[in-house]
Amino acid sequence: MSKGSRAARAACAVVPVAAALAHIGPAATWLHGPRRLLLPALAGQGRPDHVALTFDDGPDPVSTPLFLDVLDGLGVRATFFVLGENVVRHPAQARELARRGHELAVHGWSHDPPWLPSPARDARELRRAVQVVRETTGRTPRWYRPPYGILTTGRWAAARRLGLRPVLWTAWGKDWRRDATPASVRATVAADLRGGGTVLLHDTDHASAPGSWRAALAALPGLVGDCRAAGLEVGPLLDHGVAGKTRVREAESGVPTTPGAVPSRSPTPGQP
Ligand SMILES: [Zn+2]
Repeated sequence: MSKGSRAARAACAVVPVAAALAHIGPAATWLHGPRRLLLPALAGQGRPDHVALTFDDGPDPVSTPLFLDVLDGLGVRATFFVLGENVVRHPAQARELARRGHELAVHGWSHDPPWLPSPARDARELRRAVQVVRETTGRTPRWYRPPYGILTTGRWAAARRLGLRPVLWTAWGKDWRRDATPASVRATVAADLRGGGTVLLHDTDHASAPGSWRAALAALPGLVGDCRAAGLEVGPLLDHGVAGKTRVREAESGVPTTPGAVPSRSPTPGQP
């Protein structure tokens, strides 16, 4: 190979990397500490006497009903970031989320990592996911959390055009791991949880180690008990008072609001 062709090949290798870095740049928002300090609204920082409980990747006809039963027993409502493809597969389960008083938000259409820029596809799929949630449940989602918490430029723009607020999390349970246990999930959440925090868990193993949802499910009573013992109320993002406003009107969401509430991973992505 000549020097010239080697240089050309090197340049070809560099350009996509540079493009990918520009595209993934906003994904620095994964990083827990900086995100919480510098971008509190994006991290889901809300009113100090409240903790937002959120679940990703569902609905799932096997595991989600078990979460709904435990949440009913605890008297807690939560926000479920659903995938459009799962709502289409399990519409009855999506409707059940709404019927039981939980908030539906969108996690995208499928659980693909966005390593290559695809703003047109991002916009198309996110719009489709919002439409499917609305048509299936009668609820208009107001929050968006991208898979793996990677908020690319294209996904951010697509969400804003749809009137969705991107919200990530301040504490997670690492409940997607094969070795997760109820105790590990509870302790991992507790390590990062403060008043005003947003907790990320999963009500399905759709994109996680098989059966890993059992650890999150069993951790729930302890987690909620920890919050209540600390004087913190647990509820959905709708009641969390995240700073700023959404363009979605209350009446469209169909979810009752609390009076006075303001509506509103590691470097290798884990499993949010
Ligand atoms: Zn996810």
